[in-house]
Amino acid sequence: MSRQYINTAIDYPNAAPHMGHAMEKILADVCARWFRLRGDEVRFQVGTDEHGIKIQRTAEKEGVTPQELVDRNAVLFKDLFDKLNISYDFFVRTSNKKIHYPTVLEMWKKLAKDGWLEKRSYTGLYCVGCEEFKTKRDLEDGMCVNHKKAPEEVKEENWFFRLSDRSDYLKELLSKKPEDGGYKVVPEFRSKEVFSFIEQGLPDVSFSRPKSTLYWGVPVPDDKDQVMYVWCDNLTNYISTLGYLTDKEDKKWWDDAEVTHVIGKDITRFHALNWPAMLDCVGIKTPDRLLVHGFLTSEGEKMSKSTGNVVVPDEVLEKFGGDPDPLRFYLSHEVPVGRDGDFSWDRIEKLYDSKLRNDLGNLLNRVLVLLKKERGKLGDFGSDPKLLGDKWKKYQESMNAFRLEDGVSLAVELATECNQFIDKNKPWELKGDEKINLLTQLAEALRHVALMLLPFTPGTSERILKQLDLKAPATLEGKTDWGAEKSWKKVGEAEILFEPLE
Ligand SMILES: [Zn+2]
Repeated sequence: MSRQYINTAIDYPNAAPHMGHAMEKILADVCARWFRLRGDEVRFQVGTDEHGIKIQRTAEKEGVTPQELVDRNAVLFKDLFDKLNISYDFFVRTSNKKIHYPTVLEMWKKLAKDGWLEKRSYTGLYCVGCEEFKTKRDLEDGMCVNHKKAPEEVKEENWFFRLSDRSDYLKELLSKKPEDGGYKVVPEFRSKEVFSFIEQGLPDVSFSRPKSTLYWGVPVPDDKDQVMYVWCDNLTNYISTLGYLTDKEDKKWWDDAEVTHVIGKDITRFHALNWPAMLDCVGIKTPDRLLVHGFLTSEGEKMSKSTGNVVVPDEVLEKFGGDPDPLRFYLSHEVPVGRDGDFSWDRIEKLYDSKLRNDLGNLLNRVLVLLKKERGKLGDFGSDPKLLGDKWKKYQESMNAFRLEDGVSLAVELATECNQFIDKNKPWELKGDEKINLLTQLAEALRHVALMLLPFTPGTSERILKQLDLKAPATLEGKTDWGAEKSWKKVGEAEILFEPLE
């Protein structure tokens, strides 16, 4: 057994959460649930990144204080994660002075004391949307690539973090394997971009802004005119909740754990470069893994208000009666980890009908109804009628390698093969023990489908297992062999697993 600390990027609550937030949390949740199932001890953290100029400006526009704005909006994120059945253990908020600030202030002081921070006068092109200074090569036709807006020219004093001096260190760190203390970008193809940034020469990073432009943030220690800006504040969330650099360090979840950050491709470079460099400068272990996901389009196009194709997570939940599993299933099945994906209403409805309602729901119902006619008693499990085969081996390999789409596909494949098996063997034409034993084998195969789906569609798995008269296990230990549930003698009541769509 090992110990896993997994966290997502913290979300910027200047507006309500969107599908990208949902996708990232579902991805991290599938990983966290898989870690627990394979027997690891897990801490799973999500949260909100509550400071900065965008929040400050949005609050001004709405006539509320920044604190009021983030208090109101952080709830929207928390609510969505609960509706999506995200099994997080801790929700961090960076405006929390008691939990988050102490580590951040110490991080700053330590970096400053060791000469990693330097105050400089600076003129630069600043994109408010990105909250960062841009260099000419970051821009396209003079515009920010993300926001299609020309950045503002800003001249001011900033504290800078000397990232430029960490190129060699970072190159080595990112080239090493995790078992040798390296920091791995998953999937591999996402790491190329990071190395190319290093090759181009790393710029120093602005770590503060004058209070006159940014007042909503952590004050810089020993410099009353400056407020921390982005990195030292938000990246530090991963260790502030563990009390690092204070007298309450909980080393169990960092020094003695495998650390995975689940983030979007747009912030890879900050997590792959700024963050480990900062940690190394203050003598803290670097994370083990950066799991990078792509972006989600809608009906094949970038989601935007002007196109009118923005999909709101709540709409999707509502479509399926509040059940998060169709969306969880869709994103896991349709979007390979690391790649960009597309959300399509037509596709999610088709997938729901064919895979969940038909292949899975109807199969379960047929098996249970036929067994109920035989008084619900199970017969002999016998040996695997080549339904399971080496699927568990493949499943574990895929899940451990973060090829989660392959994991969920194996569960789907097993359900499909069960349907072929029932059509071929026609248990309704059989009699007595022969009939009961065949149905018992199908019930057993359905147990395996439910277990394989546990990280992806936990609510559905629990409902399948309940109908089979079983409970969802905490771990898979001793559960993956054919006929592993020795005391399982009968099935429960058949219920509709997925209602038809209106
Ligand atoms: Zn921008």
